[in-house]
Amino acid sequence: MKVLKFGGTSVGSAERMRAVAELIQSDERRIVVLSAMSGTTNALVNIARLLYDGDTTAATYQTEILRQHYLMVARELLPNEAHVTDAITQVDARFRAVFDLMRGPLTASGEKVILAQGELLSTLLFHRYVTQVLGQQAVLLPALDFMKIDRDEEPDAAYIREHLAQQLAQYPDNQLFITQGYICRNADGGIDNLKRGGSDYSASLIGAAADASEIQIWTDIDGLHNNDPRVVEGTYPIRELSFDEAAELAYFGAKILHPSSVLPARQHNIPVRLLNTMQPEAPGTLISSKTGPEPIKAVAAKDGLVAINVKSSRMLLAHGFLRSLFEVFERYRTPIDMITTSEVAVSLTIDDATHLEEILNDLRGFGTVEVDKNQTIICLVGNLVQSTHGAARLAFGALEDVPLRMISYGGSPNNISILVNTADKTRALKALNAGLFQKA
Ligand code: ASP
Ligand code: MG
Repeated sequence: MKVLKFGGTSVGSAERMRAVAELIQSDERRIVVLSAMSGTTNALVNIARLLYDGDTTAATYQTEILRQHYLMVARELLPNEAHVTDAITQVDARFRAVFDLMRGPLTASGEKVILAQGELLSTLLFHRYVTQVLGQQAVLLPALDFMKIDRDEEPDAAYIREHLAQQLAQYPDNQLFITQGYICRNADGGIDNLKRGGSDYSASLIGAAADASEIQIWTDIDGLHNNDPRVVEGTYPIRELSFDEAAELAYFGAKILHPSSVLPARQHNIPVRLLNTMQPEAPGTLISSKTGPEPIKAVAAKDGLVAINVKSSRMLLAHGFLRSLFEVFERYRTPIDMITTSEVAVSLTIDDATHLEEILNDLRGFGTVEVDKNQTIICLVGNLVQSTHGAARLAFGALEDVPLRMISYGGSPNNISILVNTADKTRALKALNAGLFQKA
């Protein structure tokens, strides 16, 4: 069994869907996981926001625009009139689910129902194209029948495995299955989702649950790049990465892969291949338990961090100090990204500033608190075990003109993190590119 996931741009039009149908041809058993067509989830988020604001007129209008778009895609995809009429009935049922929610005030569960429609629509149309136009056998598996999160909003791996197996067992002779990414049930049985970009996570969970031999993530870029292509010229796709390296990179900036999606694959040792729909022959990036030889494979950046420094003489030789400090963050359910300490001070970063004021208030009980907003973590990812000093020297040498706010090294053998002002990010990424990857 293979799992092939296609992102929003890969299924973003009738033409793109036809191309995907070509790419999934194979003799092997496979599950195709689709995102919503590009722009749809954003449109649905917007519709929900309008409803929260009480603007039913605008929400109705936006929903109707989206509906018209889907009617057009259905017509483009299915040349046969009877098939079109039938598909439109199904599409309209999806939109009715949205319109029905406009009658009363929108609730959180209603919003989730709205957000779920994108993946339901893309799979519905794609399945019809494959079966009715191409005349192939394909089963549309409802993700809502097997994807599930628990009370902590974590995927329920045992449930997913059992229920996916039950679904697949009903079709012993079928080779091709199509299902929705992103959407799932929650602990109460309601419709929910795996958060934005969650289709990658779906694919990885499905791959793990089905003991797949490979998980393919198809997007519109040819793999994970060694540096941010939006900032630096001449970046290239990394051929091979270990699960750990890929997890670090996915978290730090590289938008192409949902950070959590590496975990289920790693747990079950299933290789993940990142491939490009627009350039299907390109090798892309292979993520597995193996890794390539380069000590530093990639540089990535994550913006929007807040650095907090707490200076306290109470910390000197005290035990339990860090625990009570971390409890403040725990209290406000705010994850810490980076941390560095000296004998009398601690610096750490957070990327969720929702409770910043409360956190700072509580921290002032410990000592002097300083805050720097607009910080960027630059993360060097690779296999740093063998050639640590060489790699660090090259990196810091390249950054000699950039003020460094924090450095974190040694937490994992795959990562050196450096905090800089966001204003210095471009300069830092370019300098690292020249110093690390452009050796003559
Ligand atoms: N459609 C969802 C989103 O846009 C999930 C995904 O595409 O991965 O976030
Ligand atoms: Mg995505």
